[in-house]
Amino acid sequence: MIDYISRPEEEWKKELTKEQYEVMRGDTVEIPYTGEYLTTIKRGFYSCAGCGTELFSSKTKFDHGSGWACFSDTVQEDLLGTRFGTRLGTEQTEVFCNTCKSHMGHLFKDGPVTKNDGTRYSINSCSLTFKKSEKR
Ligand code: FE
Repeated sequence: MIDYISRPEEEWKKELTKEQYEVMRGDTVEIPYTGEYLTTIKRGFYSCAGCGTELFSSKTKFDHGSGWACFSDTVQEDLLGTRFGTRLGTEQTEVFCNTCKSHMGHLFKDGPVTKNDGTRYSINSCSLTFKKSEKR
């Protein structure tokens, strides 16, 4: 069960940085190759920067060379929602945090074939917070 978090836009604006607000609550995308976690290989978990929900494990992170942090799977599928969108003018499947509805990135099917079918979550680093953990 997902507990949906609803907040007034003013609160989001105060809590998030300008970049985070524009990407997570607006309609922009993090500039490629600028993300804080692009090359991070430490063990741990990546949470939604908006509500703190753990979304990705470093176990599933891989380098795709496309300029954003990529994951082949999520910690728990129903934590993420998808919808068809046209950010940057291209038709893509947008991924958002189901708990707080913040934009996370996009979903593609050109990733490594592991558990599923080449799933690649291409995620803006600014939408995430990383916490080191040996458990991951
Ligand atoms: Fe969230």
